[in-house]
Amino acid sequence: MNLQSDWPEQNAGEPAGNRFARVWVDSHCHLQLVDEAPDTMLERAPQVSWLVVPGVDATSSQAALALARRFAGRVFAAAGLHPDQAERWPEERNRIAELVPQAIAVGETGLDFYRNLAPRHVQLTAFRDLLDLAIEFDKPVIVHCRDAFREVHEIIQHTGTGERVIMHCWSGGPHWARRFLDLGVTFSFAGPVLFGTDDMIRRGAALVPPDRAMVETDAPHLCPSHHREKPNDPANIGLVGAALALVWQMTCDEVAAATTDTAVRLFHG
Ligand SMILES: [Zn+2]
Repeated sequence: MNLQSDWPEQNAGEPAGNRFARVWVDSHCHLQLVDEAPDTMLERAPQVSWLVVPGVDATSSQAALALARRFAGRVFAAAGLHPDQAERWPEERNRIAELVPQAIAVGETGLDFYRNLAPRHVQLTAFRDLLDLAIEFDKPVIVHCRDAFREVHEIIQHTGTGERVIMHCWSGGPHWARRFLDLGVTFSFAGPVLFGTDDMIRRGAALVPPDRAMVETDAPHLCPSHHREKPNDPANIGLVGAALALVWQMTCDEVAAATTDTAVRLFHG
């Protein structure tokens, strides 16, 4: 099925407000880090109305901004430093700070105490500084959190940034979902809500109201299980949405509409 040509016809006669009900926002997609040409990937994902491309360091943040200029209105860029790269913060800091005002958000940033590729105190410094930049330039922040729920919660609470925080690739269960809901954060769900080995993430997701949720592919990472040997692709976004539809007992259309509204409010509000 060719969604691009089928959709307008399929929706003919529907009120204009419903026309894009099945359109998704991919809130986290590293389009600048994939091998394939970005135009090919975007063409293959007509159901993705727009997406956010986070940086993992200064160079990839700059590349994300270049894509945002090239695909204006369809691609939006965030500037940040991935916690795995946090040791580079002293030398990357100025370049990233210069990019933040041009970006739609700060990110990604956060803490990864699972891989621990950078010392924890270094990750903490970069994360705190990037949150300060987000406050200074009044931007939402895309937060990576792996095995560091307690620390991330404490820092968000302390900085009072909850309502501007997007917890990317949310992997917490009910306990942490409740605690982060109380902070006012928005949860971005990715592949693990679909292929998580137990029900923990889905039980957490059940507590998250759809107006506090977004969907993402995190492409090229986290490919849905049955094509896991391939790089992930924004065209797979509907699989994440379908998993949430099951969790929330909603239709995919309703999930698409709710998560798109959330993304519009967070990134363009
Ligand atoms: Zn990412």
